[in-house]
Amino acid sequence: MLEVESYRRLAATTLGRPITHVDASDAWFLKGGLIGEQVVDVLEGRTFIADRRIGKLLLLDLDTGPTLGLRFGMTGRLVVDGRASIDHLEYSSDRDDPQWDRFIVTFADGGELRMRDPRRLGGVELDPDTDRLGVDAFELTRAQLRAALGTSEAPLKARLMDQSRVAGLGNLLTDEILWRAALDPARAAGSLSPAELRRLRRHLLVTLRELDERGGSHMGDLQIMRSREGVCPRDGAGLSRRTIGGRTTYSCPVHQR
Ligand SMILES: [Zn+2]
Repeated sequence: MLEVESYRRLAATTLGRPITHVDASDAWFLKGGLIGEQVVDVLEGRTFIADRRIGKLLLLDLDTGPTLGLRFGMTGRLVVDGRASIDHLEYSSDRDDPQWDRFIVTFADGGELRMRDPRRLGGVELDPDTDRLGVDAFELTRAQLRAALGTSEAPLKARLMDQSRVAGLGNLLTDEILWRAALDPARAAGSLSPAELRRLRRHLLVTLRELDERGGSHMGDLQIMRSREGVCPRDGAGLSRRTIGGRTTYSCPVHQR
């Protein structure tokens, strides 16, 4: 999600620039029943007037017509005018190949917005359904966090990563936040005391801001210890490695309770 936040800032540089050409020839990359001609029709001759982000979804509003929705999956990147905001993503190859450009918008000034995605896990949509997304993690109030966790018996980590409850938290971010907040990812989501809930929200917001400044969700303090020999950077205990909510989870058996 921090990657998408950086793409949003990059996409903001395209606002107000007339769109002259659209290459939407990769049919696989068009989602929600969209066809290439349709997206070309909607975009050409128009301009983007606003950039928004909800969780991992980037939204670009047009001066007239629908909203363009961009999803990046695990390997997608945004390139604007030849510039990428983040040069290294955990799951991306370091190589860069224009063959991976799945969707290209060209502006009147000759600049371009490209979605580059080696594994084609992302996609392009018009008017994506945002009703199914929870509150964006950056804007989460304490009451909203409490509501998102509810009285659920599901693991805390799984609930935090449920995009319909809290939008934007991925695997690495969630492990980092829970490690900093000293909370066991496997605990029942509904079991947090008011003090633990406050602590979780505080660490959640600080972690998002810090890692955004450092350059992405892979820049956490726990990150380099995500291996079988990893130890807790805080107390030196051997980290436990479990599958929680279907994802590989690292946590400290000593200080995360
Ligand atoms: Zn520890």
